[in-house]
Amino acid sequence: MTKHTLIVGASHAGVTAAEALRRNGFDGAITLLSAEACPLPYHRPPLSKAYLSGEKSAQQIALRGATFYEDNAIILRHGLRAEGLDPRARTLTAGDEVIPYDDLILATGARPRLLPGSEQIRTGLHRLRDLADADALARRRDSASRLVIAGGGFIGLEVAATFVKRGVEVIVVEPQTSLLARALPAEVSAPLLALHRAAGVEIRLGTTLTRLIHSNGRLTGVELSDGTQIATDDLLVGIGSQARLELAPGAETRLGGFAVDSHGRTSLPHVWAIGDCATQDNRFAGGPARIESVQAATDQARATGAALAGKTDAPPAAEALPWFWSDQYDWKLQMAGFIQPGAEVVLRGDPAAGAFSVLHMRGARLCATFSVNRAGDHIHARKLIASGARFDAAALTDAATPLNKCLIPEPAA
Ligand SMILES: Cc1cc2nc3c(=O)[nH]c(=O)nc-3n(C[C@H](O)[C@H](O)[C@H](O)COP(=O)(O)OP(=O)(O)OC[C@H]3O[C@@H](n4cnc5c(N)ncnc54)[C@H](O)[C@@H]3O)c2cc1C
Repeated sequence: MTKHTLIVGASHAGVTAAEALRRNGFDGAITLLSAEACPLPYHRPPLSKAYLSGEKSAQQIALRGATFYEDNAIILRHGLRAEGLDPRARTLTAGDEVIPYDDLILATGARPRLLPGSEQIRTGLHRLRDLADADALARRRDSASRLVIAGGGFIGLEVAATFVKRGVEVIVVEPQTSLLARALPAEVSAPLLALHRAAGVEIRLGTTLTRLIHSNGRLTGVELSDGTQIATDDLLVGIGSQARLELAPGAETRLGGFAVDSHGRTSLPHVWAIGDCATQDNRFAGGPARIESVQAATDQARATGAALAGKTDAPPAAEALPWFWSDQYDWKLQMAGFIQPGAEVVLRGDPAAGAFSVLHMRGARLCATFSVNRAGDHIHARKLIASGARFDAAALTDAATPLNKCLIPEPAA
């Protein structure tokens, strides 16, 4: 009998898993379930970048055209939220349907964290996770006079850049004493702060948003930890996200995500989890990590799709090097690997000229790179970190020499 793989969540992880199943020869039925109203799954990163600024339309950010699903016999059902799971019966409840499956892939992603008191506010409070959120925020792009942003993370800073360019007064409130303290080294974080301030964004470091001020369900202002009150009609809350785990309360969790093995198996039989909702060991993280990025979602999805299609030798996603990017003003920031406390820092290029890379080295080996407008460094670094190549320290500081030409030749075997 034909096998049925049911995938909950039709975004980067879910769609890639469906594609990987077919590419690896799975000839059973595949159903992709999406709770979102939008009929075609889309790229999520542009929601805080080119889609929010109006440079790209919803059609332009579709992950795949409609024909992809037809051509690959993938049944895509949108506007349908899965609500219940019976792992013993191998059925899922969605709306008034009970859907049987042979294998279930949870690709349910994450939801934004909220501030206490949010439930009392109907107007003026923004979050940014899906297309509907981006549309609501984009409607204020040209009409808001002031936007307060709680959280100086990637999403908050990308939105700050978009709004300040439109003439909106933007105030970012960040509890840490530097921007993106866990993701970026000081050599990148400090010029990023200067970039935002030069563009006119007010950034209050070491400050927490402590209270939402509202009247009749409408936001009117916020209060900060230093006692300041700021009047505002619009607040974007960008304080991180939480994995959506509610569908499988019986599955083991780790670090806030479904605990999965190197191919995505959860502790429940025939239930797999991938993407933002999953925690997996990662060689470069040095242990379990829930990595929220397109790269992690797609690498995990490829590994799970291949394993489910019976490819026992499929490479596990745990071996994949994490990488990420962010667009702010004319900065294309690209990162590979994780900050390494105590690593030797090498600078290539000139921060003042807006094109540089910060390398984290352990001895002769590269372990992480943070590049601004140096895409070549990023692309080479992704290969060279993963392969454990050894570098000539003197050559590295010459920004004109491509990274892959700075290697110490390996002795012939
Ligand atoms: C604004 C924004 C900007 C970002 N920028 C970047 C970037 O520049 N680079 C980068 O690498 N990453 C970026 N990310 C992170 C990246 O988008 C995520 O890591 C990625 O989308 C994770 O994919 P996913 O498929 O695991 O989850 P998601 O993309 O969150 O998709 C999960 C889907 O499952 C659906 N779902 C959940 N529960 C149910 C249910 N019960 N029934 C049916 N459907 C359900 C959700 O509605 C959603 O559509 C950004 C994220 C956001 C929000």
